[in-house]
Amino acid sequence: MSLLGKIKSTMGLLKEVDLNKLATINEKIDLKQAMDALGDLDDRQLKGLMKMLTSKAKKGQHQLPPIDGDFYNLDLKLSSAQRDLQMKVRNFMEDEIRPLVNDHWNRAKFPMEIIPKFAKLNITGVPYEGYDCPNMPFLMEGIIAQEIARVDVSISTFFGVHSGLAMGSIYLCGSEEQKQEWLPKMQKLEKIGAFGLTEPNVGSAVSQGMETTCKYDGENWVLNGQKKWIGNATFADVIIIWAKDIDSKRVKGFLVRKENTGFKAEKIEDKMALRIVQNALITLTDCKVPESDRLQNANSFKDTAKVLKMTRAGVAWQAVGCARGAYESALKYTKKREQFGRPIASYQLIQNHLVEMLSNLTAMQTMVFRLSEMQDQDILTDEHASLAKVYCSMRTRDVVSRAREVLGGNGILLEHDVARFVADAEAIYSYEGTKEINSLIVGRAITGYSAFVN
Ligand SMILES: Cc1cc2nc3c(=O)[nH]c(=O)nc-3n(C[C@H](O)[C@H](O)[C@H](O)COP(=O)(O)OP(=O)(O)OC[C@H]3O[C@@H](n4cnc5c(N)ncnc54)[C@H](O)[C@@H]3O)c2cc1C
Repeated sequence: MSLLGKIKSTMGLLKEVDLNKLATINEKIDLKQAMDALGDLDDRQLKGLMKMLTSKAKKGQHQLPPIDGDFYNLDLKLSSAQRDLQMKVRNFMEDEIRPLVNDHWNRAKFPMEIIPKFAKLNITGVPYEGYDCPNMPFLMEGIIAQEIARVDVSISTFFGVHSGLAMGSIYLCGSEEQKQEWLPKMQKLEKIGAFGLTEPNVGSAVSQGMETTCKYDGENWVLNGQKKWIGNATFADVIIIWAKDIDSKRVKGFLVRKENTGFKAEKIEDKMALRIVQNALITLTDCKVPESDRLQNANSFKDTAKVLKMTRAGVAWQAVGCARGAYESALKYTKKREQFGRPIASYQLIQNHLVEMLSNLTAMQTMVFRLSEMQDQDILTDEHASLAKVYCSMRTRDVVSRAREVLGGNGILLEHDVARFVADAEAIYSYEGTKEINSLIVGRAITGYSAFVN
């Protein structure tokens, strides 16, 4: 290189130098001595040194990508206000809920103290218009369900039963007076709701074989029967009870208040999933309900089905949240856990599990996103909601089982959250229509043949 070339290249190098950094380095090592030593090295030695330094820097400073289960950036489809709300819910779940869930899940206790804090988020009754409800798109209801379930499926079930099934029954089937009485207070979580449809002897076939009865005695409706699995019912203020009218043989809906005589709710113990949710066995013994507490626009099971259609999409989102929580926990774990001297995330077989989880999760997310768009466009059918519920609850089972697998023995400890997601995925799989029942709904729609009963 000519002298001029050398000067130019030195000037170029000097331009790049951060003098402050150089001064700091000079405090730690004798730079002049180091430069002299470097000057004595030949080309081959210099290349070797550079290789060593860059590979050390890579190892030391290896920047791991952030953990985020939204691989296709669906969040970019939200407005900034919607994204802010999503983050508000996420922060609440991380700060207030995550620290207490495993302990409460273990003890099968519901953290009552979170209810007023939850109310402050103003996310109850998201899609409803009026009655102090936010009146946001169904898409936001889904995003919120995902965010809650991402941390804990029990809390998301508490919320789904209250805001979706119970408030939804009143919103879709109540009279104006009933809506005015209940919805604003339920929106603020001052009153809590439950939804009683399933019975001890009749689950999937409840549309046809409901055993709980109602009969008007000239003064009141008299309800008799039992309801099983009813979430929130041990502490709810109002329980929507569906019962068959002995006279008209039609299904009617009732606002049963917890203080009604003849109403009893006993907690179902020893569940292996959703342990935080307080599910009850309800017994109605000559339970008297005034006509003013009969849902005025619920005239047959078709009206009950309207409520289920509206909320089934939310359950599909819940499955997505469960899968996302398990995937993110598993990914985090595999980056930290070292075996054979390296993080297990660096092994091909572990990466295969992670990619399978992520592909399932991403397929589910894109599916429910479209599902909610259809709900917002009012073109959602029962079979659309059923397909998403079937697909997402099946794929979630696969995701959580892979998450449990990459955690090894720790996968069965509550401490890492994954064990809880594994158990809770089982409840999502069964409620709001089992895989078989939702498949039969879709099967009927695409073939034109009903295969429910032979
Ligand atoms: C944790 C949890 C919370 C719940 N919360 C509530 C709640 O708040 N309110 C409420 O009302 N209910 C609630 N449920 C009830 C839930 O909706 C029912 O469990 C569900 O509908 C299935 O009914 P089942 O459990 O009685 O099963 P069954 O109906 O007895 O079904 C048993 C099996 O038979 C299959 N099967 C039934 N019929 C057919 C057929 N024709 N063809 C093929 N297979 C068939 C089912 O798919 C299933 O695999 C909850 C359930 C759970 C587990």
